[in-house]
Amino acid sequence: MKKSVLIVGGGIAGMSAAIRLAAKGLEVSILEKGERLGGKLNIRRGNGYTFDTGPSILTMPWVLEKLFQEVGRNLNDYLEIERVEPGWRSFFNDGTVLDLSSDLPTLINEVKKISPDDANNLYPFLSYGQKMYDLTMKSFYKKSINGLSDLRMMHPMKELLQMDPMKSMAGATSKFFKNKHLQQMFNFLIMYVGSSPYHAPAIMSQLSHVQLGLGVHYIKGGMYKLAEAFSKVLSEIGVDIKLGTEVEEIITNGSRAEGVRTKNGQELFADIVISNLEAIPAYKTLLKNHFESEKEVRDLQKYEPTVSGLVLLLGVNRTYNQLAHHNFFFSKDPVKEFNQIFVDKKLAEDPTIYVGISSKTDSTQAPAGSENLFVLTHVPPLKEGEDWELYKAKYRELVLQKLERNGVTDLRKHIEFEHQFTPNDLQKLYGSNGGSIYGTITDRKLNGGFKIPNKSKVLQNMYFVGGSTHPGGGVPMVCLSGQLTAELIVEEQEQLKQYIV
Ligand SMILES: Cc1cc2nc3c(=O)[nH]c(=O)nc-3n(C[C@H](O)[C@H](O)[C@H](O)COP(=O)(O)OP(=O)(O)OC[C@H]3O[C@@H](n4cnc5c(N)ncnc54)[C@H](O)[C@@H]3O)c2cc1C
Repeated sequence: MKKSVLIVGGGIAGMSAAIRLAAKGLEVSILEKGERLGGKLNIRRGNGYTFDTGPSILTMPWVLEKLFQEVGRNLNDYLEIERVEPGWRSFFNDGTVLDLSSDLPTLINEVKKISPDDANNLYPFLSYGQKMYDLTMKSFYKKSINGLSDLRMMHPMKELLQMDPMKSMAGATSKFFKNKHLQQMFNFLIMYVGSSPYHAPAIMSQLSHVQLGLGVHYIKGGMYKLAEAFSKVLSEIGVDIKLGTEVEEIITNGSRAEGVRTKNGQELFADIVISNLEAIPAYKTLLKNHFESEKEVRDLQKYEPTVSGLVLLLGVNRTYNQLAHHNFFFSKDPVKEFNQIFVDKKLAEDPTIYVGISSKTDSTQAPAGSENLFVLTHVPPLKEGEDWELYKAKYRELVLQKLERNGVTDLRKHIEFEHQFTPNDLQKLYGSNGGSIYGTITDRKLNGGFKIPNKSKVLQNMYFVGGSTHPGGGVPMVCLSGQLTAELIVEEQEQLKQYIV
């Protein structure tokens, strides 16, 4: 008889797991509380503007290709993916502008403009990043791993030492560059996983290879096309999808998850249950009786949530020709900024601001002569009982004023459409811990960069996928998380069959 699987949540991770498991012949259902699939990868339209509400930068598209290939499909039949150049345009407090181009001669020239000496170290820095990436490919990106003991089995000591375990990402960057702007820009790549470069391990320097070696990409028609492509594959391979279905409880019996109870009282049963809701909120809300025991065996405290964000979707009735598709307006003092967010856990006085304008690459995303600005400012995750309504108006003003001071002239006068998401909204919409954007932080001392393992320790047939779990947050990572967990489940089922025979 076919094994059945219930997946709570239809984000990228849940859908990836569903695709792989259904292709292996399991009977899969996704229960999604929202009105569409995609989770944080979502869409909003208004006044002729289209906005991606979550991810706007696509990295490591090979992860998506792998998923499609594994189920006998070609990603290019479903999506048009193009490379974005320059990857980022960086604006610094003193008026310096630098294009982070993945074209090496262009990048060398950009670096020479601000620091001729550092240009010589660009190539060694990129090689270091690639080395870190190659090491990660052998373990973190290959298998669902539980922590250091698994890592030790997958790498000889020489490779573990090459990971520079005693160094932070910022420590590694400063070995290559003297110039403060270069350090700040390359360190900021860590925001792809919502952590601090001063606390993240040096292995995260691989993000320079992800950014420059593998490149920054855009999906034609908007990032939401990715959720649509996944939905198409899901229906082609017969996954049952129940939208508008909120799971209220995971039904358990001893050490087994038996199924789920939905908000409207329906009970559904299956052999395997997977939560795409982050692991800690899942234990707190859906598995209340098991939270304490899981906390004990897992030491869940060390998996703190990543940053959350204030998102402003702005339709503006003019164009800003000095801006690129992806722009970063950096803070004056990154040490202070990261300290305020990650140590003091308060709003940064001078935050780095990201402005994404997909209409620069894709004219379907805004009316002619107008632009769709996606403005993201990272903020600490919500504390217990905290209400962002208190800061929303003031922080929005701080963000828009900073952009205007940095050349995005008269921005406030040109806004003709606006929608905002606060940490409260992100928490309510997706259930993430404190409104976290990327799951759990990558912190050398706190968790060694490991995430919550995909398999529960207290319930033998319960799994977790998504940003809070291995290998982490961001579109490629959560897609891998779904795939690696599906592989783990299939492997376990095969072993079980052999045992029974
Ligand atoms: C503003 C923003 C900007 C971002 N920018 C980028 C970027 O540029 N590049 C990048 O790679 N990543 C980016 N990310 C991160 C990326 O979006 C996430 O890492 C990824 O989409 C998370 O996918 P997931 O499947 O793990 O979780 P989610 O997308 O959170 O999916 C979880 C799903 O579970 C559902 N759910 C929760 N509880 C229940 C329940 N009880 N019953 C039923 N369903 C439930 C939710 O509705 C949701 O659909 C960004 C995210 C945000 C919010």
